[in-house]
Amino acid sequence: QTPVIAIDGPTASGKGTVAALVAARLGFHLLDSGALYRLAALASVRYGIAPADHEALAALVSDLHITFREGCAQLDGVDVSSEIRAEEVGNRASAIAVHQDVRAALVARQRAFRKEPGLVADGRDMGTVIFPDAVLKVFLTASVEARAARRHKQLIQKGFSASMENLLRDLRDRDERDSNRAVAPLKPAADAKLLDTSSLSIDQAVEEVVGWYRER
Ligand code: C5P
Repeated sequence: QTPVIAIDGPTASGKGTVAALVAARLGFHLLDSGALYRLAALASVRYGIAPADHEALAALVSDLHITFREGCAQLDGVDVSSEIRAEEVGNRASAIAVHQDVRAALVARQRAFRKEPGLVADGRDMGTVIFPDAVLKVFLTASVEARAARRHKQLIQKGFSASMENLLRDLRDRDERDSNRAVAPLKPAADAKLLDTSSLSIDQAVEEVVGWYRER
């Protein structure tokens, strides 16, 4: 079986950055599953589908025309990599991710990323639902303050405006919704290794994960 490293954790825990660097170090493919939910969220806005209309959303998700190329995410052939990073798109993604049929419609698409020589997959349910047979499962955590500070920096760098106060509130709301939803709630897999990145540099976190993979 092609090896999978699953990296899950709450929003802005650093999992996206760590996953991309681990994938680069090992020469593995990368799945940013949050980007799929964000693309679905963006498409739902474009097609005027309400976040509660799960049947229409599931149908939309099944037909979505998305491609990932060299770090760019395309929707219907148009690069939307920056657009999907907006905070409102993330919030809408979290709102539509509560629906079982929407999640089910994304399963096969996510598993299709598993290709030789290996895959690093980041998200909320990579180790628990999508790749339960992952050879390494990591659950990244960090304090809500550390995560808000990171997200703030990231948004400013991308040219979005953001206030720390709003970010803290959004992160708490999103954590609450992602952790308490009935379907695939955010929680570490029973066999996940926990990594608190509050006081780690990105490089230290990457070293730890690559070390765990090599030692396993
Ligand atoms: O990780 P990111 O912030 O890009 O994800 C956006 C939203 O998509 C999350 O808040 C979460 O609700 C949802 N998501 C999910 N399962 C995943 C990845 C993301 O429910 N595997």
